[in-house]
Amino acid sequence: MTRHNDTTQFDTEWTPAIDGTGKVLNTDSRWTIVSTSVSALIVGSIAWLAVSTMPPVTGGSVENASKGFLPYRLFQQLSQSSNNALFGNAPAEPALPAQQNNLDQNLAAERAQKPKSSIETHTVTLDAGDTLAGALENAGISADDANAAIAALSKVYSPRQLRAGLAFDITYNTKPDVSTTNNSSSDYEGDDISKGKAVQGEPIARLLSIKFSPSVEHDVTITRGDDGTFQATDTVKKLVPHVHRAGAAIDGSLYLSAMRAGIPTDVVGEMIKMFSYKVDFQRDLHPGDSFEVFYNYYYTPEGQAVRNGNISYAVMRLGDKQIVLYRYQSDPNAPAEYFDATGESAKGLLMKTPVDGARITSGFGMRFHPVLGFSRMHKGVDFGVPIGTPVMAAGAGTIAFMGWSNGYGRFVQVNHGNGYATAYGHLSRFAAGLHVGSRVGQAQVIAFSGNTGMSTGPHLHYEIRVRNEQVNPLSVKMAQGRKLSGKEMRAFQSERLRIDDQMAATKLETKVADATAAANFKSLSK
Ligand SMILES: [Zn+2]
Repeated sequence: MTRHNDTTQFDTEWTPAIDGTGKVLNTDSRWTIVSTSVSALIVGSIAWLAVSTMPPVTGGSVENASKGFLPYRLFQQLSQSSNNALFGNAPAEPALPAQQNNLDQNLAAERAQKPKSSIETHTVTLDAGDTLAGALENAGISADDANAAIAALSKVYSPRQLRAGLAFDITYNTKPDVSTTNNSSSDYEGDDISKGKAVQGEPIARLLSIKFSPSVEHDVTITRGDDGTFQATDTVKKLVPHVHRAGAAIDGSLYLSAMRAGIPTDVVGEMIKMFSYKVDFQRDLHPGDSFEVFYNYYYTPEGQAVRNGNISYAVMRLGDKQIVLYRYQSDPNAPAEYFDATGESAKGLLMKTPVDGARITSGFGMRFHPVLGFSRMHKGVDFGVPIGTPVMAAGAGTIAFMGWSNGYGRFVQVNHGNGYATAYGHLSRFAAGLHVGSRVGQAQVIAFSGNTGMSTGPHLHYEIRVRNEQVNPLSVKMAQGRKLSGKEMRAFQSERLRIDDQMAATKLETKVADATAAANFKSLSK
């Protein structure tokens, strides 16, 4: 995890004085702290109010209750029923007020200034380009705490998966005053105080917990234990799968037709991927064509649609042609694949389009070169895509070149065996961890599109080379993918029959009149 270069700048701007009104404390556009967890603030406030109103051990007076403060007994109950992480590490109670009748003065004095130490909760939202470590440090958490928490997190959830917009509820102690630290909290790291920024009058908060939900089904919690180390847990909600069998006539776009039939967009997207080697969705679809898809979808116990399960079967009826695909996983450790009824893979050797949502801006053949200013052979296909669009390896293979190559700018070549290679030009950057000799899988992201080299606008230049000769990717007859045989073929055929039986027992949903399907789609499209 890298941290922001300018962390220090934010650290100096951070202020621990939260007023509990949910006010945004820092208006810097890169991050915000919003005080949201009012309950934690209240409990934190109770903590210091109660200890200061605590009656003498022998007295048992409830006089303070009449002053509008919480009786100590109630505070005790509250703190005992609370998460230990909130209170387990809180500095011990300061000395009791010497005399009961000094209470008002003490209270006034306490209220006049910030408590020496309190537990607070804030929501930190990750902005684009932020790291969790950076955001935590911006919030006043020490680098040691932030790194220890993230190290714990990485055991249950990859910090790389954290994305902009994700909100983290962080709970922490603000820095206790040295005088209360001395004899109360033995495990508070003295180093933080003596060597940390606190010496320069800056706040250091002691991180207690972080909570976030990376998706509807996951609740991740990182908690500091009694021994001071962090533990992370990922609580997964039990989702309930439902099978759906749905179909529609293709009227205009496949997406729109599927939407009208109540099929979630992620299912349609998956279906388009399945058929992308067999069907050209821009040219092959005509009025009267239709499709059917058999899939399962996951719901929370409350019935909220969460995510796509698997498509186990889909058919596209294009004119008099029918393309049927079944899902089959030959190896439990390998991803499932799709095969037609004869056991032939849905995938060709190479993808025709190595970027999603691409539009061809320049085809293969003679053209006037916009940069050179004369006509010459264009030996690839250009896809107009914004800079930073993920570029996928068109097929499984080995990276043969990754670097700068004159007019191509940043350039990658992947060798696929049998004399086949693909090449990708004008890239902005390469995917992390890849280098010449790396093995890549089909559709693995290898780079990001750009506008480098001899290029007049953001696009991907894509070439297919057969024995070092560029060929037209759109017309080259691609070698078929694998065909199942022997034991695998028998296993696939029994899986195919199982899917057919299951499908025959499932009612076809054809109309959007199905209120559940409509609602499901609605909740998905938000
Ligand atoms: Zn080009």
